[in-house]
Amino acid sequence: MALKYFIAGLGAGLLTIYFAPNSNFVFNPKLENSENILVKSQNFQNLPKIKIGLQIGHLDQDKVPPELSALNSNFENKFLQSIRDKEISITREVAKELLKILEQEGFSVDLLSATVPEGYLADAFLSLHLDWNKNQNVRGFKVSGSAFDSSGKSQRLAELIKFFYEKITLLPWNNYITPNMRYYYAFNYKSFKHSISPETPAAIIELGFLTNKEDYEFLKDHPQKAAQALAKGLIAFIKNVSQF
Ligand SMILES: [Zn+2]
Repeated sequence: MALKYFIAGLGAGLLTIYFAPNSNFVFNPKLENSENILVKSQNFQNLPKIKIGLQIGHLDQDKVPPELSALNSNFENKFLQSIRDKEISITREVAKELLKILEQEGFSVDLLSATVPEGYLADAFLSLHLDWNKNQNVRGFKVSGSAFDSSGKSQRLAELIKFFYEKITLLPWNNYITPNMRYYYAFNYKSFKHSISPETPAAIIELGFLTNKEDYEFLKDHPQKAAQALAKGLIAFIKNVSQF
């Protein structure tokens, strides 16, 4: 191959690497088999990966450390226990699908249980839940950013998750955001060691109501769709914050 073509090719590759927006996680498959692969691989390897923490709400809640034992105050209640089991069976499926999509994007993903590692640091943290209500007509999803945020980004994360979740799942928005969401224990570094760092942009989502037929059936039958929506929100957030 003529040297000038090789240099031109190398230049194009480098341009793609250094000037593509968010090149640390946008992988261009067209370049995969080109002679620039070594240059690209080395650069990709040297860049820190974007890390996302996904919490499956209530998972292993019976194994939380003593400081979080209040979470289990209703544990004897068989009704609430069955609600939690049903909740986890959905959020686990959504989290698995979401993990697949995010790893394909080149992110590193931690799946977390009810016990969050002390001072957990990530580029974004999302806690997955489902809601319930005695009134079976109550439905919709809710998203809230962390009230303990010091990153200044949690609100933006919540907004982008809301935007894509509503658009893609077509589930209705439910405006009743409780303090239990905004002041969620896993955000609360002031009271609990097992909480995320306030520097970690964080949001919590109630994906829908378990007790509402339409919400529940949608989520049970289409966990991939919910995961696609959450992935879009998370990816848009990462792109958005990397522009600052
Ligand atoms: Zn929950």
